[in-house]
Amino acid sequence: MQAKEYRSTLQPVWCTGCGDFGALKALTQALADCDVKPEKLGVISGIGCSSRLPGYLKAYSFNSIHGRALPIASGLKLSRPDLTVVAVGGDGDGFSIGLGHLPHAIRRDVHMTYGVLDNGIYGLTKGQASPTTEVDIKEKQGLAGVDERPLNPVLLVLSSGCGFVARSHAGNMPHLRQMFREAIQYPGFAFVHVLAACATYQMKNYAEEIYNRCDPLPSDHDPSDFSRAVAEAMSDRFKLGVIYRRPPEERPAVAAQGMGRAGVWPPHRADETLLETAGEVEE
Ligand code: SF4
Repeated sequence: MQAKEYRSTLQPVWCTGCGDFGALKALTQALADCDVKPEKLGVISGIGCSSRLPGYLKAYSFNSIHGRALPIASGLKLSRPDLTVVAVGGDGDGFSIGLGHLPHAIRRDVHMTYGVLDNGIYGLTKGQASPTTEVDIKEKQGLAGVDERPLNPVLLVLSSGCGFVARSHAGNMPHLRQMFREAIQYPGFAFVHVLAACATYQMKNYAEEIYNRCDPLPSDHDPSDFSRAVAEAMSDRFKLGVIYRRPPEERPAVAAQGMGRAGVWPPHRADETLLETAGEVEE
């Protein structure tokens, strides 16, 4: 299938210049790359401008309730494992109202892709600060919450044990297409942080300004190196690419059999001594 064949007859109502257009196009391209048939595709969102996206696709689409994309998407995948499931939403939907669901979806590690289209603002409700709005932007725009620092989405999901973590920019569609493609192909919960523009409520030139603060990951970056992934997540630049991909032997189901647990709490227990000791005390 071609990317355009995934589009429904609905025309997007996004503002001219909205970054969500780039994300929609890159996602359809990635779906075509992965040869996902529309009748085998489920796309779930919460509420917000970017959460309109499922309606623009030929798929089992559900524009659900605020912050609830992940439990609905997880339920869909568990009941219909034959579907490719993608959840989408914005930074407010995912990191504020819906944040409680994120670490638990990661812990369950259901095979699905979660793309957060992060424009650092609430667009649909006309420009309030979101959990990722930077402090200086709040100061310049006179937004509430100046004394609240933005959260770091990539560090957040890494610390929750997410097995696939990538970042891209909606203005770089070939790159975003590749990130979505790799996320869809990852056999577990995959997170894609998409830097996007709100052309109406963000600062002027926001998309360009953010783009100029992005760098590709270093050519020697090893996505299986969890410590390196954390370091890149804490960089003062937005690092683009696959930041972390858990090696197959370290996936939780395998790790439970004692093969290592990089990035998963608690640390791997090297032997059963501790358990045996606890058992002795109980007796
Ligand atoms: Fe996009 Fe912002 Fe317009 Fe919403 S308000 S459609 S996020 S440009």
